[in-house]
Amino acid sequence: MLSKLCKDYIINLQTENVFFDEPMKNHTSFRIGGPADVFIEPESPEKFCELISFLKKESVPFFVMGAGSNLLVGDKGIRGVVIKTGKGFDSLKKEDNIITAGSGVTLVKLANFAASNSLSGLEFAGGIPGLVGGAIYMNAGAYGGEMKDVVVSTTYLDENGDIKELKDAEHKFVYRGSAFTDGQKYILSTKIKLKDAPEDEIKAVMKDLNARRREKQPLKYPSAGSTFKRPEGYFAAKLIEDAGLKGTFVGGAAVSKKHSGFVINQTGEATASDVCALIDKIKETVFKQFNVELCCEVKMVGEF
Ligand SMILES: Cc1cc2nc3c(=O)[nH]c(=O)nc-3n(C[C@H](O)[C@H](O)[C@H](O)COP(=O)(O)OP(=O)(O)OC[C@H]3O[C@@H](n4cnc5c(N)ncnc54)[C@H](O)[C@@H]3O)c2cc1C
Repeated sequence: MLSKLCKDYIINLQTENVFFDEPMKNHTSFRIGGPADVFIEPESPEKFCELISFLKKESVPFFVMGAGSNLLVGDKGIRGVVIKTGKGFDSLKKEDNIITAGSGVTLVKLANFAASNSLSGLEFAGGIPGLVGGAIYMNAGAYGGEMKDVVVSTTYLDENGDIKELKDAEHKFVYRGSAFTDGQKYILSTKIKLKDAPEDEIKAVMKDLNARRREKQPLKYPSAGSTFKRPEGYFAAKLIEDAGLKGTFVGGAAVSKKHSGFVINQTGEATASDVCALIDKIKETVFKQFNVELCCEVKMVGEF
């Protein structure tokens, strides 16, 4: 339960985007998740930093998110405050071949902005449905490209409330992870270095990659993308298909028939418990048949 002091502070923020007992299914691509005690989308990085400093001082738990495209939120929701680094973080500018993007810019907008400025290197990101902050945290990647290939520096709020910068190798990018994965640093903006190339060539590559995505992925259904990380030496989707799990369902959640690497919210009414039970079933079956341990790429948040 939030204290009166905390509620009063949040109400006094006079930000339009404050919601109490907000269903998280409205803020995740899975369309799943119980209520967050409070959901806030701060209108500027300054307000965000002030808010975090207050919540830390008052020991109020909080969770920082982007577009919610890699999250499974529990059916009982999230206690404390959920903060989305969205609209207030959507600055975008270009200087020579460097783009500076706020953490709330969508990857689609960023990739299109790069293409329109004849800058190549972000073609891989043009179909990933996250925001810049979430993409750096996760080191999002596709079709041979990853954020690590283009990010040169990132400004963030550290655990002591100071604004700091990470450069190049300090990001510690690994497969679907980064220096931010400890969850104690909050990404504000990033600088991305790209190469000059003709706009029409960049756009042709993006068009092709998006067509491949539409052809292979179950984009008609809510999901959080690939449910599992790629196990070394294998492909999660192939293991799941070979284990005979394609189309398997628990409640409203199913292994996509189009792409076995995706657990989808097939009915639109799936619960987090359905998804968790299906994930357990997949992990158990794949381990029994192939002795390979699947690890979730999707982040579990809140109370299940
Ligand atoms: C249809 C579909 C296709 C997908 N395809 C791909 C793909 O090809 N490649 C790929 O890598 N991923 C893919 N994804 C997964 C997802 O889009 C990426 O992981 C994306 O980078 C997540 O960004 P987000 O803004 O949605 O982050 P969220 O899901 O909101 O959060 C992810 C993590 O980042 C943290 N975070 C977010 N913002 C910040 C911030 N400002 N500061 C600190 N921490 C933060 C959160 O705490 C959380 O732990 C796909 C998802 C879907 C639904």
